[in-house]
Amino acid sequence: MTGNDIDLHAVAERFRLDGDVTRVAPYGDGHINATYLVETTDGRAILQRMNTTVFPDTFHLMRNIELVTAFLRAQGQETLDIIPTRDGSTYLEDATGAWRMYVFIEDTVSYNLVTDAAVFRAAGGAFGAFQNQLSGFDASQLTETIAHFHDTPKRFRDFLAALDRDAMGRAAGCPDEIAFFRGRDGRYATITDGLADGTIPLRVTHNDTKLNNILMDARDGHARAIIDLDTVMPGSLLYDFGDSIRFGASTALEDERDLDKVHFSLDLFRSYAEGFLGELGGAVTAREAELLPTGAWMMTVECGMRFLADHLAGDIYFATRYPEHNLVRARTQIRLASEMEEQADAMAAVVADVMGGKA
Ligand code: ADP
Ligand code: MG
Ligand code: MG
Repeated sequence: MTGNDIDLHAVAERFRLDGDVTRVAPYGDGHINATYLVETTDGRAILQRMNTTVFPDTFHLMRNIELVTAFLRAQGQETLDIIPTRDGSTYLEDATGAWRMYVFIEDTVSYNLVTDAAVFRAAGGAFGAFQNQLSGFDASQLTETIAHFHDTPKRFRDFLAALDRDAMGRAAGCPDEIAFFRGRDGRYATITDGLADGTIPLRVTHNDTKLNNILMDARDGHARAIIDLDTVMPGSLLYDFGDSIRFGASTALEDERDLDKVHFSLDLFRSYAEGFLGELGGAVTAREAELLPTGAWMMTVECGMRFLADHLAGDIYFATRYPEHNLVRARTQIRLASEMEEQADAMAAVVADVMGGKA
């Protein structure tokens, strides 16, 4: 069923809104859920038709969000505020889909791209504060709504399976890229092993640290709230830190064809680390701090092998605009990961410096 066939007004009215619904219209730049702005005689709300293809377990997804937002709110942090249905449920499920409603967080701005170091530092601060505030939360309460999300060894096995099948006969066209991922096999279990043996603490991870998931104050730019909590799951803070660096400390877009434009920026790495560690404070363990550069590398390599696996499989998972699109994406990740390898000592020095300045 498409959005056009649905009586959005009627859907909105099944939630516990104070005023009468006057208007419902598509809203925002999200790519996963269908998001609508609801206007009432009393104020505004966000209505979302959840993506049940990506997240089939709506019950546990909403339970995760409820648990995390309640914990954040108890500490005075502004966060997503669920408006229940008229019969008291956190979401609504009918023939038109699975729906939820949030209080509209007013007077904020967000960014789609890293525009400058200050914005990236603020983003780091937002996620550092998120981790700090949730450091007392028992992450094992949360459901893993997408199994093995950042299980890099599993992602590597999936890549090898796609290579083995070579469904499109594309493997012959990218031997160097294949060799890159094969040649680093020995490092892929660093984080998963650490979580398993307890040397890396299990924490709440956001898993979608895109800039437009941080709402910043429209007046002074400070980070107000982190939204889009669909992917909150148990994991390592290295995942969120690493993925932020992967997309934010790059000098080019993820699908830049001209590799001469693609570089890992140590300066942007420093900006994010300053924001992140500055807000995280003493909640980070020595082992986590030591592994921050590895986290950035791991998320970049993992993402790259997923792009290459999808290229080999015939572009099934990631939306592509041309036949080499996933290969181009894999190449940017390989470039970034290679530069991180070259600058591993410099990255470690930045972390040590930022940690030192904090103590
Ligand atoms: P997606 O998973 O599709 O990215 P999001 O939950 O991030 O969906 O919502 C899409 C956009 O809607 C956000 O980027 C933001 O602009 C806006 N939005 C979502 N929730 C709120 C809210 N509670 N208050 C204000 N804006 C919101
Ligand atoms: Mg979003
Ligand atoms: Mg999302």
